[in-house]
Amino acid sequence: MVDLISKKIRGFRDILPDESQKFLFLEEKIHNICPLFNTKQIRIPALESLNLFKRSIGESSDIVTKEMYSFKDKNDETVCMIPEGTASAMRLAFENNLIYDRGIKKNRFYYITQMFRHERPQKGRYRQFTQFGVEFMGNESIHEDIDLLLMSKIFFDVIKLDNLKLNINSLGLAEDRNKYSQDLQSYFNNYHESFSDQQINTIKNNPLRILDSKDQRLTEIINGAPNISNYINKESLKRFDDMVQILNDLKIDYTINDKLVRGLDYYNDLVFEWKTDQLGTQDAICAGGRYDNLSNIIGNKAVPAVGFAIGVDRVVDLMSYKDTDLVVGLSVISNSKSDMSKISSILRNTDNKFTLIQMDAEKSLTKQIKTAVKSNCDILVIVGSEEISNNILTIKDLRSDRDDMSISFDDFSKFIEEY
Ligand code: ATP
Ligand code: MG
Repeated sequence: MVDLISKKIRGFRDILPDESQKFLFLEEKIHNICPLFNTKQIRIPALESLNLFKRSIGESSDIVTKEMYSFKDKNDETVCMIPEGTASAMRLAFENNLIYDRGIKKNRFYYITQMFRHERPQKGRYRQFTQFGVEFMGNESIHEDIDLLLMSKIFFDVIKLDNLKLNINSLGLAEDRNKYSQDLQSYFNNYHESFSDQQINTIKNNPLRILDSKDQRLTEIINGAPNISNYINKESLKRFDDMVQILNDLKIDYTINDKLVRGLDYYNDLVFEWKTDQLGTQDAICAGGRYDNLSNIIGNKAVPAVGFAIGVDRVVDLMSYKDTDLVVGLSVISNSKSDMSKISSILRNTDNKFTLIQMDAEKSLTKQIKTAVKSNCDILVIVGSEEISNNILTIKDLRSDRDDMSISFDDFSKFIEEY
Protein backbone atom coordinates (compact mmCIF):
# COMPACT_ATOMS: atom_id res chain seq x y z
CA MET A 1 0.00 0.00 0.00
CA VAL A 2 1.22 3.48 -0.76
CA ASP A 3 2.13 5.39 2.35
CA LEU A 4 -0.19 8.38 2.13
CA ILE A 5 1.19 10.40 4.99
CA SER A 6 4.82 10.56 3.90
CA LYS A 7 4.18 11.88 0.40
CA LYS A 8 2.88 15.23 -0.78
CA ILE A 9 -0.20 15.53 -2.96
CA ARG A 10 0.39 15.60 -6.73
CA GLY A 11 0.84 19.10 -8.12
CA PHE A 12 1.75 20.57 -4.75
CA ARG A 13 5.31 21.26 -3.85
CA ASP A 14 7.57 21.81 -0.91
CA ILE A 15 9.58 25.01 -0.95
CA LEU A 16 12.92 24.39 0.72
CA PRO A 17 15.08 27.02 2.47
CA ASP A 18 17.22 27.98 -0.56
CA GLU A 19 14.16 28.61 -2.70
CA SER A 20 12.29 30.26 0.14
CA GLN A 21 15.13 32.80 0.35
CA LYS A 22 14.22 33.91 -3.16
CA PHE A 23 10.58 34.36 -2.19
CA LEU A 24 11.67 36.44 0.79
CA PHE A 25 13.92 38.56 -1.38
CA LEU A 26 11.05 39.22 -3.81
CA GLU A 27 8.60 39.96 -1.04
CA GLU A 28 10.97 42.51 0.44
CA LYS A 29 11.28 44.29 -2.92
CA ILE A 30 7.50 44.27 -3.29
CA HIS A 31 6.97 45.83 0.14
CA ASN A 32 9.47 48.55 -0.82
CA ILE A 33 7.96 49.31 -4.22
CA CYS A 34 4.26 49.40 -3.34
CA PRO A 35 4.37 52.50 -1.10
CA LEU A 36 6.06 54.40 -3.96
CA PHE A 37 2.76 53.91 -5.77
CA ASN A 38 0.59 54.63 -2.73
CA THR A 39 -0.51 51.01 -2.84
CA LYS A 40 -1.54 49.37 0.44
CA GLN A 41 -1.47 45.72 1.40
CA ILE A 42 -4.59 43.65 1.89
CA ARG A 43 -4.82 40.02 3.00
CA ILE A 44 -7.57 38.09 1.33
CA PRO A 45 -9.02 34.85 2.70
CA ALA A 46 -8.04 31.53 1.14
CA LEU A 47 -11.70 30.50 0.85
CA GLU A 48 -14.50 32.41 -0.85
CA SER A 49 -17.96 31.46 -2.00
CA LEU A 50 -17.84 29.57 -5.27
CA ASN A 51 -20.28 31.99 -6.85
CA LEU A 52 -17.88 34.90 -6.51
CA PHE A 53 -15.61 33.28 -9.07
CA LYS A 54 -18.27 31.69 -11.24
CA ARG A 55 -19.97 35.01 -11.80
CA SER A 56 -16.88 37.18 -12.15
CA ILE A 57 -14.32 35.12 -14.04
CA GLY A 58 -16.85 33.79 -16.51
CA GLU A 59 -18.48 30.37 -16.76
CA SER A 60 -16.51 29.41 -19.86
CA SER A 61 -13.04 30.31 -18.57
CA ASP A 62 -10.46 27.56 -17.94
CA ILE A 63 -10.49 28.34 -14.26
CA VAL A 64 -14.23 27.90 -13.81
CA THR A 65 -14.68 24.97 -16.18
CA LYS A 66 -11.88 22.78 -14.89
CA GLU A 67 -9.44 24.27 -12.42
CA MET A 68 -11.30 25.14 -9.23
CA TYR A 69 -10.84 23.46 -5.88
CA SER A 70 -14.42 23.81 -4.71
CA PHE A 71 -16.36 21.77 -2.21
CA LYS A 72 -19.22 21.85 0.25
CA ASP A 73 -18.12 22.61 3.78
CA LYS A 74 -19.71 21.15 6.91
CA ASN A 75 -22.54 23.68 6.77
CA ASP A 76 -23.28 22.73 3.18
CA GLU A 77 -21.95 26.01 1.86
CA THR A 78 -20.24 25.74 -1.52
CA VAL A 79 -16.84 27.32 -1.13
CA CYS A 80 -13.77 27.56 -3.30
CA MET A 81 -10.07 27.87 -2.59
CA ILE A 82 -9.16 31.11 -4.32
CA PRO A 83 -7.88 30.60 -7.90
CA GLU A 84 -7.09 34.30 -8.39
CA GLY A 85 -7.21 37.52 -6.38
CA THR A 86 -9.00 40.21 -8.36
CA ALA A 87 -12.54 39.08 -7.56
CA SER A 88 -11.67 38.68 -3.87
CA ALA A 89 -9.96 42.07 -3.72
CA MET A 90 -13.01 43.70 -5.21
CA ARG A 91 -15.32 41.81 -2.87
CA LEU A 92 -13.18 42.96 0.06
CA ALA A 93 -13.12 46.56 -1.18
CA PHE A 94 -16.92 46.74 -1.49
CA GLU A 95 -17.66 44.91 1.70
CA ASN A 96 -15.47 47.33 3.68
CA ASN A 97 -16.56 50.50 1.86
CA LEU A 98 -13.07 51.10 0.52
CA ILE A 99 -14.04 51.97 -3.05
CA TYR A 100 -17.63 53.05 -2.72
CA ASP A 101 -19.34 55.03 -0.01
CA ARG A 102 -22.11 57.25 -1.44
CA GLY A 103 -19.71 57.73 -4.35
CA ILE A 104 -16.60 56.26 -5.90
CA LYS A 105 -13.46 56.26 -3.76
CA LYS A 106 -10.00 55.74 -5.21
CA ASN A 107 -7.87 53.09 -3.59
CA ARG A 108 -4.87 51.00 -4.56
CA PHE A 109 -4.24 47.53 -3.10
CA TYR A 110 -1.72 44.74 -3.30
CA TYR A 111 -1.51 41.19 -1.98
CA ILE A 112 0.96 38.35 -2.00
CA THR A 113 -0.95 35.17 -1.53
CA GLN A 114 -1.46 31.52 -2.41
CA MET A 115 -3.72 30.55 -5.30
CA PHE A 116 -5.11 27.11 -6.07
CA ARG A 117 -5.89 25.69 -9.49
CA HIS A 118 -6.35 22.07 -10.44
CA GLU A 119 -4.18 22.13 -13.56
CA ARG A 120 -1.81 19.61 -15.14
CA PRO A 121 1.37 20.04 -13.08
CA GLN A 122 4.58 20.87 -14.93
CA LYS A 123 7.51 23.25 -14.61
CA GLY A 124 6.11 26.72 -13.87
CA ARG A 125 2.59 25.36 -13.41
CA TYR A 126 1.62 24.26 -9.93
CA ARG A 127 -1.66 23.54 -8.18
CA GLN A 128 -0.73 25.89 -5.37
CA PHE A 129 1.25 28.94 -6.37
CA THR A 130 1.89 32.47 -5.19
CA GLN A 131 0.67 35.61 -6.88
CA PHE A 132 1.71 39.18 -6.25
CA GLY A 133 -1.41 41.03 -7.29
CA VAL A 134 -2.04 44.76 -7.61
CA GLU A 135 -5.42 46.42 -8.11
CA PHE A 136 -5.89 50.15 -8.72
CA MET A 137 -9.58 50.89 -8.12
CA GLY A 138 -11.82 53.89 -8.67
CA ASN A 139 -9.93 55.66 -11.44
CA GLU A 140 -10.58 55.30 -15.16
CA SER A 141 -7.79 57.57 -16.40
CA ILE A 142 -5.15 56.14 -18.74
CA HIS A 143 -2.60 57.58 -16.33
CA GLU A 144 -3.75 54.89 -13.96
CA ASP A 145 -3.02 52.25 -16.62
CA ILE A 146 0.39 53.79 -17.22
CA ASP A 147 1.25 53.98 -13.52
CA LEU A 148 0.31 50.31 -13.15
CA LEU A 149 2.49 49.31 -16.10
CA LEU A 150 5.33 51.35 -14.59
CA MET A 151 4.93 49.49 -11.32
CA SER A 152 5.30 46.10 -13.01
CA LYS A 153 8.29 47.42 -14.94
CA ILE A 154 10.02 48.79 -11.86
CA PHE A 155 9.53 45.45 -10.11
CA PHE A 156 11.25 43.56 -12.93
CA ASP A 157 13.99 46.20 -13.12
CA VAL A 158 14.66 46.07 -9.39
CA ILE A 159 14.99 42.30 -9.34
CA LYS A 160 17.09 42.53 -12.51
CA LEU A 161 14.96 40.22 -14.59
CA ASP A 162 15.65 41.16 -18.16
CA ASN A 163 14.62 39.37 -21.33
CA LEU A 164 10.99 40.02 -20.45
CA LYS A 165 8.78 41.42 -23.19
CA LEU A 166 5.76 43.60 -22.52
CA ASN A 167 2.83 42.65 -24.76
CA ILE A 168 -0.18 44.96 -24.87
CA ASN A 169 -3.52 44.98 -26.60
CA SER A 170 -6.94 46.59 -26.39
CA LEU A 171 -10.08 44.51 -26.05
CA GLY A 172 -12.43 47.47 -26.45
CA LEU A 173 -15.82 47.13 -24.82
CA ALA A 174 -18.02 44.07 -24.36
CA GLU A 175 -20.20 45.04 -27.34
CA ASP A 176 -17.14 45.19 -29.60
CA ARG A 177 -16.11 41.79 -28.39
CA ASN A 178 -19.52 40.24 -29.08
CA LYS A 179 -19.34 41.16 -32.73
CA TYR A 180 -15.70 40.04 -32.89
CA SER A 181 -16.57 36.72 -31.22
CA GLN A 182 -19.19 35.97 -33.84
CA ASP A 183 -16.81 36.64 -36.72
CA LEU A 184 -14.07 34.67 -35.03
CA GLN A 185 -16.46 31.75 -34.60
CA SER A 186 -17.38 31.76 -38.30
CA TYR A 187 -13.70 31.96 -39.23
CA PHE A 188 -12.71 29.02 -36.99
CA ASN A 189 -15.63 26.98 -38.26
CA ASN A 190 -13.93 26.98 -41.67
CA TYR A 191 -11.19 24.85 -40.11
CA HIS A 192 -13.48 22.54 -38.19
CA GLU A 193 -11.37 19.42 -38.81
CA SER A 194 -8.21 21.00 -37.32
CA PHE A 195 -9.70 21.33 -33.84
CA SER A 196 -10.09 18.81 -31.02
CA ASP A 197 -13.52 18.22 -29.50
CA GLN A 198 -12.59 20.34 -26.54
CA GLN A 199 -11.44 23.18 -28.79
CA ILE A 200 -14.66 22.97 -30.79
CA ASN A 201 -16.48 23.40 -27.52
CA THR A 202 -14.37 26.46 -26.70
CA ILE A 203 -15.12 27.92 -30.13
CA LYS A 204 -18.80 27.53 -29.35
CA ASN A 205 -18.62 29.11 -25.89
CA ASN A 206 -15.77 31.59 -26.02
CA PRO A 207 -13.87 31.67 -29.33
CA LEU A 208 -11.46 34.36 -28.09
CA ARG A 209 -9.93 31.72 -25.83
CA ILE A 210 -8.60 29.90 -28.91
CA LEU A 211 -6.33 32.87 -29.62
CA ASP A 212 -4.74 32.16 -26.23
CA SER A 213 -4.13 28.50 -27.12
CA LYS A 214 -0.69 26.98 -26.59
CA ASP A 215 -1.44 24.30 -29.23
CA GLN A 216 1.32 24.69 -31.85
CA ARG A 217 -0.81 23.08 -34.57
CA LEU A 218 -3.14 26.05 -34.48
CA THR A 219 -0.51 28.75 -34.97
CA GLU A 220 -1.22 29.30 -38.65
CA ILE A 221 -5.00 29.35 -38.24
CA ILE A 222 -4.69 31.81 -35.36
CA ASN A 223 -2.34 34.06 -37.33
CA GLY A 224 -4.90 34.28 -40.13
CA ALA A 225 -7.81 35.08 -37.81
CA PRO A 226 -9.64 38.41 -37.93
CA ASN A 227 -7.94 41.16 -35.96
CA ILE A 228 -9.69 42.57 -32.90
CA SER A 229 -8.42 46.10 -33.59
CA ASN A 230 -10.87 46.29 -36.53
CA TYR A 231 -13.80 45.85 -34.13
CA ILE A 232 -12.96 48.34 -31.44
CA ASN A 233 -15.03 51.46 -30.87
CA LYS A 234 -13.50 54.88 -31.58
CA GLU A 235 -13.15 55.97 -27.99
CA SER A 236 -11.35 52.80 -26.94
CA LEU A 237 -9.07 53.09 -29.96
CA LYS A 238 -8.17 56.63 -29.02
CA ARG A 239 -7.57 55.60 -25.45
CA PHE A 240 -5.19 52.88 -26.61
CA ASP A 241 -3.38 55.22 -29.03
CA ASP A 242 -2.92 57.83 -26.31
CA MET A 243 -1.52 55.22 -23.99
CA VAL A 244 0.90 53.91 -26.60
CA GLN A 245 2.04 57.47 -27.20
CA ILE A 246 2.87 57.88 -23.52
CA LEU A 247 4.77 54.58 -23.51
CA ASN A 248 6.78 55.88 -26.48
CA ASP A 249 7.52 59.14 -24.67
CA LEU A 250 8.66 57.17 -21.63
CA LYS A 251 10.83 54.97 -23.88
CA ILE A 252 9.21 51.80 -22.59
CA ASP A 253 9.56 48.87 -24.98
CA TYR A 254 6.37 47.01 -25.84
CA THR A 255 4.85 44.86 -28.56
CA ILE A 256 1.27 45.33 -29.66
CA ASN A 257 0.00 41.76 -29.76
CA ASP A 258 -3.45 41.67 -31.32
CA LYS A 259 -3.87 38.00 -30.34
CA LEU A 260 -3.50 38.77 -26.64
CA VAL A 261 -6.99 38.39 -25.17
CA ARG A 262 -6.52 36.88 -21.67
CA GLY A 263 -8.48 33.99 -20.29
CA LEU A 264 -10.85 35.83 -17.99
CA ASP A 265 -14.07 37.47 -19.08
CA TYR A 266 -13.94 40.60 -17.02
CA TYR A 267 -11.39 42.65 -18.96
CA ASN A 268 -12.01 45.67 -21.20
CA ASP A 269 -9.70 48.05 -23.06
CA LEU A 270 -6.10 47.49 -21.90
CA VAL A 271 -4.81 43.95 -21.48
CA PHE A 272 -1.12 43.15 -21.07
CA GLU A 273 1.37 40.43 -20.28
CA TRP A 274 5.05 40.29 -19.49
CA LYS A 275 6.43 37.25 -21.27
CA THR A 276 9.68 35.32 -21.15
CA ASP A 277 11.11 32.93 -23.72
CA GLN A 278 12.85 30.90 -21.03
CA LEU A 279 10.06 28.86 -19.47
CA GLY A 280 8.63 26.96 -22.44
CA THR A 281 4.89 27.35 -22.79
CA GLN A 282 4.62 28.76 -19.25
CA ASP A 283 5.74 32.05 -20.77
CA ALA A 284 3.52 34.56 -18.95
CA ILE A 285 5.10 36.03 -15.82
CA CYS A 286 2.64 38.85 -15.31
CA ALA A 287 -0.83 39.36 -16.68
CA GLY A 288 -3.28 42.16 -16.24
CA GLY A 289 -5.66 44.67 -17.65
CA ARG A 290 -8.59 46.95 -17.07
CA TYR A 291 -11.80 45.53 -15.63
CA ASP A 292 -14.31 48.35 -15.40
CA ASN A 293 -17.34 46.04 -15.32
CA LEU A 294 -16.40 43.63 -12.59
CA SER A 295 -17.64 46.09 -9.98
CA ASN A 296 -21.17 45.90 -11.41
CA ILE A 297 -21.18 42.15 -10.94
CA ILE A 298 -19.67 42.13 -7.46
CA GLY A 299 -20.83 45.38 -5.87
CA ASN A 300 -23.67 46.49 -8.12
CA LYS A 301 -21.90 49.84 -8.71
CA ALA A 302 -19.72 51.11 -11.52
CA VAL A 303 -16.20 51.47 -10.15
CA PRO A 304 -13.46 51.38 -12.82
CA ALA A 305 -10.32 49.41 -12.05
CA VAL A 306 -7.10 48.11 -13.52
CA GLY A 307 -4.70 45.50 -12.15
CA PHE A 308 -2.14 42.79 -12.68
CA ALA A 309 -0.98 39.53 -11.12
CA ILE A 310 2.59 38.31 -11.19
CA GLY A 311 3.30 34.58 -10.89
CA VAL A 312 5.93 34.65 -8.14
CA ASP A 313 6.90 30.98 -8.58
CA ARG A 314 7.73 31.62 -12.22
CA VAL A 315 9.81 34.66 -11.28
CA VAL A 316 11.65 32.49 -8.75
CA ASP A 317 12.33 29.90 -11.47
CA LEU A 318 13.85 32.60 -13.68
CA MET A 319 15.89 34.68 -11.30
CA SER A 320 19.41 34.17 -10.14
CA TYR A 321 20.00 35.01 -6.53
CA LYS A 322 22.97 35.11 -4.26
CA ASP A 323 22.41 35.34 -0.56
CA THR A 324 24.33 38.36 0.72
CA ASP A 325 23.27 38.22 4.35
CA LEU A 326 26.13 38.17 6.83
CA VAL A 327 26.82 34.78 8.44
CA VAL A 328 28.37 34.85 11.93
CA GLY A 329 29.79 31.78 13.67
CA LEU A 330 30.08 31.65 17.45
CA SER A 331 32.63 29.58 19.38
CA VAL A 332 32.37 29.67 23.15
CA ILE A 333 35.25 28.06 24.98
CA SER A 334 34.14 27.86 28.58
CA ASN A 335 33.34 25.40 31.32
CA SER A 336 30.05 27.01 32.18
CA LYS A 337 27.12 25.32 30.41
CA SER A 338 25.13 28.55 30.22
CA ASP A 339 27.79 30.70 28.52
CA MET A 340 26.81 29.73 24.97
CA SER A 341 23.23 30.91 25.58
CA LYS A 342 24.39 34.01 27.44
CA ILE A 343 26.77 35.16 24.70
CA SER A 344 24.25 34.27 21.97
CA SER A 345 21.67 36.48 23.65
CA ILE A 346 24.12 39.37 23.74
CA LEU A 347 24.88 39.01 20.02
CA ARG A 348 21.19 38.61 19.15
CA ASN A 349 20.28 41.81 20.96
CA THR A 350 20.49 43.94 17.80
CA ASP A 351 18.42 45.37 14.95
CA ASN A 352 20.94 44.11 12.40
CA LYS A 353 20.10 41.11 10.30
CA PHE A 354 22.57 38.24 10.23
CA THR A 355 22.64 34.48 10.53
CA LEU A 356 24.13 33.21 13.79
CA ILE A 357 25.52 29.67 13.82
CA GLN A 358 26.56 28.20 17.15
CA MET A 359 29.63 25.98 16.90
CA ASP A 360 29.83 22.69 18.75
CA ALA A 361 31.63 23.40 22.07
CA GLU A 362 32.57 19.72 22.40
CA LYS A 363 34.94 20.07 19.42
CA SER A 364 38.42 21.60 19.45
CA LEU A 365 38.72 25.22 18.36
CA THR A 366 40.58 24.15 15.20
CA LYS A 367 37.64 21.89 14.27
CA GLN A 368 35.17 24.68 15.05
CA ILE A 369 37.02 27.07 12.74
CA LYS A 370 36.93 24.46 9.97
CA THR A 371 33.19 23.98 10.46
CA ALA A 372 32.66 27.75 10.37
CA VAL A 373 34.46 27.99 7.02
CA LYS A 374 32.45 25.05 5.68
CA SER A 375 29.21 26.68 6.83
CA ASN A 376 30.04 29.82 4.84
CA CYS A 377 30.54 32.00 7.90
CA ASP A 378 31.95 35.44 7.12
CA ILE A 379 33.28 35.91 10.62
CA LEU A 380 33.76 33.73 13.66
CA VAL A 381 33.24 35.22 17.11
CA ILE A 382 35.44 33.44 19.64
CA VAL A 383 34.84 33.83 23.36
CA GLY A 384 36.89 32.17 26.09
CA SER A 385 36.59 32.54 29.89
CA GLU A 386 39.08 35.39 29.90
CA GLU A 387 37.10 37.31 27.28
CA ILE A 388 33.90 36.73 29.22
CA SER A 389 35.31 38.25 32.38
CA ASN A 390 36.55 41.26 30.39
CA ASN A 391 33.38 41.67 28.28
CA ILE A 392 35.39 41.20 25.11
CA LEU A 393 34.85 39.26 21.87
CA THR A 394 37.57 38.04 19.54
CA ILE A 395 36.59 38.29 15.90
CA LYS A 396 38.20 36.16 13.23
CA ASP A 397 37.53 37.40 9.72
CA LEU A 398 37.12 34.27 7.61
CA ARG A 399 36.93 36.21 4.34
CA SER A 400 40.36 37.85 4.63
CA ASP A 401 43.66 37.13 6.36
CA ARG A 402 43.65 40.26 8.47
CA ASP A 403 44.57 39.76 12.13
CA ASP A 404 41.95 38.77 14.70
CA MET A 405 40.27 41.75 16.35
CA SER A 406 39.13 42.33 19.89
CA ILE A 407 36.03 44.39 20.50
CA SER A 408 33.83 44.94 23.51
CA PHE A 409 30.41 43.25 23.76
CA ASP A 410 28.81 46.68 23.44
CA ASP A 411 30.49 47.40 20.12
CA PHE A 412 29.39 44.21 18.39
CA SER A 413 26.23 45.72 16.94
CA LYS A 414 28.17 48.64 15.48
CA PHE A 415 30.81 46.27 14.13
CA ILE A 416 28.16 44.23 12.26
CA GLU A 417 26.53 47.36 10.93
CA GLU A 418 29.80 48.53 9.44
CA TYR A 419 31.07 45.15 8.26
P1 ATP B 1 -1.46 30.58 -18.14
O1 ATP B 1 -1.80 31.08 -19.50
O2 ATP B 1 0.02 30.33 -17.96
O3 ATP B 1 -2.32 29.44 -17.69
P2 ATP B 1 -3.23 32.35 -16.82
O4 ATP B 1 -3.71 33.24 -17.91
O5 ATP B 1 -4.08 31.25 -16.36
O6 ATP B 1 -1.76 31.80 -17.17
P3 ATP B 1 -3.51 34.38 -14.81
O7 ATP B 1 -4.79 33.87 -14.29
O8 ATP B 1 -3.51 35.60 -15.61
O9 ATP B 1 -2.75 33.22 -15.57
O10 ATP B 1 -2.47 34.54 -13.59
C1 ATP B 1 -1.43 35.53 -13.59
C2 ATP B 1 -0.08 34.89 -13.49
O11 ATP B 1 -0.05 33.89 -12.49
C3 ATP B 1 0.35 34.15 -14.74
O12 ATP B 1 0.88 35.03 -15.68
C4 ATP B 1 1.39 33.20 -14.21
O13 ATP B 1 2.65 33.86 -14.09
C5 ATP B 1 0.87 32.86 -12.85
N1 ATP B 1 0.19 31.54 -12.87
C6 ATP B 1 -1.03 31.24 -13.34
N2 ATP B 1 -1.32 29.95 -13.16
C7 ATP B 1 -0.23 29.41 -12.53
C8 ATP B 1 0.10 28.09 -12.05
N3 ATP B 1 -0.76 27.08 -12.14
N4 ATP B 1 1.31 27.91 -11.48
C9 ATP B 1 2.18 28.94 -11.34
N5 ATP B 1 1.93 30.18 -11.77
C10 ATP B 1 0.75 30.42 -12.36
MG1 MG C 1 -4.18 29.23 -16.76
